[in-house]
Amino acid sequence: MNMEKNSPEPGMEKGSLNFIEAIIEEDIRNNKNNGEVYTRFPPEPNGYLHIGHAKSICLNFGLAEKYHGKCNLRFDDTNPVKEETEYVESIMEDVRWLGFRWEGEPRYTSDYFDQLYEWAERLIMKGKAYVDDQPAAVIAAQRGTPTQPGIESPYRNRPPEENLRIFREMREGKYKDGGKVLRARIDMSSPNMHMRDPVMYRILHESHHRTGDKWCIYPMYDFAHGQSDYIEGITHSVCTLEFEVHRPLYDWFLDQIAEGDRRPRQIEFARLNLSYTVMSKRKLLELVEEKIVKGWDDPRMPTISGLRRRGYTPESIRNFADRIGVAKRDNVIDVALLEHAVREDLNKKARRYMVVLDPLKVIITNYPEGKTEMLETVNNPEDPDDGTRRVPFSRELYIEKNDFMEDPPRKFFRLAPGREVRLKSAYIIKCEEVIKDADGNITELRCTYDPETRSGSGAQRKVKGTLHWVSAPHALGVEVRLYDRLFNDPDPAGHKDKDFKEFLNPASLKVLRECKAEPALGEAAVGDHYQFQRIGYFTVDPDTTEDHLVFNRTVALRDTWARISGK
Ligand code: ATP
Ligand code: MG
Repeated sequence: MNMEKNSPEPGMEKGSLNFIEAIIEEDIRNNKNNGEVYTRFPPEPNGYLHIGHAKSICLNFGLAEKYHGKCNLRFDDTNPVKEETEYVESIMEDVRWLGFRWEGEPRYTSDYFDQLYEWAERLIMKGKAYVDDQPAAVIAAQRGTPTQPGIESPYRNRPPEENLRIFREMREGKYKDGGKVLRARIDMSSPNMHMRDPVMYRILHESHHRTGDKWCIYPMYDFAHGQSDYIEGITHSVCTLEFEVHRPLYDWFLDQIAEGDRRPRQIEFARLNLSYTVMSKRKLLELVEEKIVKGWDDPRMPTISGLRRRGYTPESIRNFADRIGVAKRDNVIDVALLEHAVREDLNKKARRYMVVLDPLKVIITNYPEGKTEMLETVNNPEDPDDGTRRVPFSRELYIEKNDFMEDPPRKFFRLAPGREVRLKSAYIIKCEEVIKDADGNITELRCTYDPETRSGSGAQRKVKGTLHWVSAPHALGVEVRLYDRLFNDPDPAGHKDKDFKEFLNPASLKVLRECKAEPALGEAAVGDHYQFQRIGYFTVDPDTTEDHLVFNRTVALRDTWARISGK
């Protein structure tokens, strides 16, 4: 892939129109298609949707919303071999979850097989299509090169009646897979390779997920897509750049079949590429089938279902799609921008809780044994309406191991022998003694607290560091899954001689089973979002059971990668 690092096209800032909107507004001004805007999102049900599809969904449904039009969901199901109902279900769930509603029922290209077949016969009778008996390899060899004209098939001038008879026999199942194809009769010397008598129909003796065994010939994408747009009354058929070279063929087929003025127009935009990410369904399928990830919805996958399970919100994905804009040239978007989008959204929404991932026991020696105090803490400083809750404090607490250092450097503002820190929403404590086991590992800290320093009591004394903590007798034991990028290379699929799987990040998942959470998290439900104070944003994983809470880290509070790479 030749990818240019660039920001969205100029003019993409909020308020100004992107180039697709400019086209649409021009069409509305000219009252083209009665000024209507009708778009569609046309996934092939051969895998789960990824963040690139999300971009296309936001674009197509977004245009319909903006111009008070409609948007169809159409399953582009012309290939019976790779398509499955499981994918259809997941695609509908993902589009709905993103917050979009398609017009009417979902459409299927397979619903149009009869109509497409009828048009194919019409093209045959007009001398615009013919059956070719040659094997695929010969047809491919005859196509020529962009600088060299192709060679006409010996079957190109077969009379229409004979083509029709054989085409019908193809449909009836008289020939084997690959035995014959139907080709459009256009121009073997066209500078556009797609116009060199492209294949319209191929023979495939395969059961289709919807039409069963009714058909053993299936239309190719190019013969199906524009015609489906036409049947549905689509006005603006938005697709990715690789289809730009197909556009003359898209228009040629419509010229053959369309009646009246209403015609869809194909418009191409640059597909979304993300750094540190692979984004082809084929590669994602490979990760799933080889069990490198736990499934399509593994939280490390760039699939919509993976992002959802990771804790992304629909709003964060929509904002991201908005912000990156619509480009006319291929580019790569920094994955940090996606991470930023979810951080920004959850910062507004997520309640702050205290969870200790790697616990170290602290005993407050001057705090009464058996006493529990309920201390008030703010749920979300970004949302005063979200109120406060109470957190238990007692003589035995947990803090993070890495919040203590026995021999700290000068700028370490956390706990160390003889030093003081504030415990969030509680008291200032001072480390008096370090307890170690026989091997010299620190097992416990003995501290004292200053009863005059309770948070919210108007105490004057200030210290530099504030730590999160959890009361030991009240703590919930929880599992926390720390996810990181699945690949450690900015362009894993971009290396000529290396498989993208060579760039897997071995540290993409770290499971912590001894974490301690404040008891209020006992009410957490699957899909809820939280900020764990000083750590990051987390969501409850569906693996959670009645007595075992599992959290996924959505994203760390700050971008540690940016810091490492010195950005
Ligand atoms: P992939 O290349 O990942 O296998 P695809 O293009 O084969 O994807 P489709 O199901 O055909 O997947 O895609 C449905 C729609 O989503 C198409 O209009 C396609 O152009 C668009 N789309 C796919 N990938 C991207 C992407 N990375 N960015 C933007 N739009 C995309
Ligand atoms: Mg495709």
